[in-house]
Amino acid sequence: MIDFQAEREQMINEQLIARGVTDKRVLDAFRRVPRHEFVPIQYRDEAYVDHPLSIGEGQTISQPYMVALMTEALNLAGKEKVLEIGAGSGYQAAILSCLARDVYSVERLPELALEARERLKRLGFNNVEVKVGDGTLGWDEFAPYDAIIVTAGANQIPNLLLQQLSDGGKLVIPVGSIWFQNLRLVTKSGDEYLEESLGGCRFVPLIGEYGWKEGV
Ligand code: SAH
Repeated sequence: MIDFQAEREQMINEQLIARGVTDKRVLDAFRRVPRHEFVPIQYRDEAYVDHPLSIGEGQTISQPYMVALMTEALNLAGKEKVLEIGAGSGYQAAILSCLARDVYSVERLPELALEARERLKRLGFNNVEVKVGDGTLGWDEFAPYDAIIVTAGANQIPNLLLQQLSDGGKLVIPVGSIWFQNLRLVTKSGDEYLEESLGGCRFVPLIGEYGWKEGV
């Protein structure tokens, strides 16, 4: 029997705190979300290791540190409305659900969306809604969002995502080539968008109307 709670605490200490993640609320969210419930059964014993894992359909659940880095950049206080593009396993959405009021997540692949939705409900993350769709178009219905997080690699920043940000809102998105991207943090301030770079990263491609074309 694996002691998942001990593994989780070790992951938080060695992968997050040791690398400079300091936001206490973010670290607490990582304590609350059982990551092993979000990985396929055959990889459960690897759930807390320091790299991404396959979740089927050619997609991955991101490395814990990458989830923490992106989440911390959004600087959530608890009352925000957050949009995620790329629900995947639902893990990032679960972390966000501990830190914001409402989370909306778009997933392109119906099978993954259905699984993520059911898993989040079963585990009691009730303030998350998952829909199937092309996230490069955002999710107009609930806009504007205080924070938008894109967990797939984009070739450009989709304009509609910028439009769906509230004033003062933050967008975190990997932008670059198919193989390598730069993690960018964009803050909307009136009519302006302030950009910062958070370093290199590697995500599966963001595929859609304002992303890569299918088959890349
Ligand atoms: N956040 C996820 C990991 C995401 S992997 C987690 O915590 O597990 C990237 C996901 O983005 C994949 O599931 C992929 O199908 C999805 N994706 C790619 N392009 C997309 C698009 N245009 N709209 C929505 N989802 C997209």
